[in-house]
Amino acid sequence: MQRRGKTFIVSGPSGVGKSTVLKALFDQRTDLYFSISATTRDPRPGEVDGVHYHFIPAEEFHRMVEEDEFLEYAEYVGNFYGTPKKYVDRAMDDGRDVILDIEIQGANQICAKRPETVRIFIAPPSWVELERRLTARGTDSQEVIQSRLLRAKVELQTASSYDYLVINDTVEQAVAEMAAILCAEHCRPAER
Ligand code: 5GP
Repeated sequence: MQRRGKTFIVSGPSGVGKSTVLKALFDQRTDLYFSISATTRDPRPGEVDGVHYHFIPAEEFHRMVEEDEFLEYAEYVGNFYGTPKKYVDRAMDDGRDVILDIEIQGANQICAKRPETVRIFIAPPSWVELERRLTARGTDSQEVIQSRLLRAKVELQTASSYDYLVINDTVEQAVAEMAAILCAEHCRPAER
């Protein structure tokens, strides 16, 4: 019988380099399924609808909440983000591991419903480096950067409640650690 895929939540403060690490991981592991979230935030330059996010109006987001279409959803620095349930379940049924790039409130909602979910936290090598990366990205206003840094302080305090901690010092090392975690989770005796 084909094994069911596992769900891996990847969280970390804004600017930590999650997208870069995940992109490099997906280049290596084309079998993985990336859950594309819905969001009410505006696209950043270079972001493509249906690839990075489903960019939807607030009314549409609230309709999806009403109709219980999200596995989880949360508000983050003034915008809503949610994980559409049906694609995640379909990919897992197809035997694919699913990666969710979501923040901590959503991670808690999913773990309450599905405690077998594996949680990986990506942290920066230092606070100064996080500030530098967030500013260097050049996509957000000073006000947004300050809100995201405030939020990052809270998020970093929750890192120890995750199953795994990956420090994104170099992308290569972070990707190698992520790949090792995915592999280790399939070596648990219950899987064999
Ligand atoms: P950004 O605006 O920088 O793309 O994302 C902001 C935060 O929202 C990040 O921490 C990201 O992980 C999180 N996020 C993205 N999609 C979702 C989602 O579907 N649900 C939740 N709860 N958080 C999400």
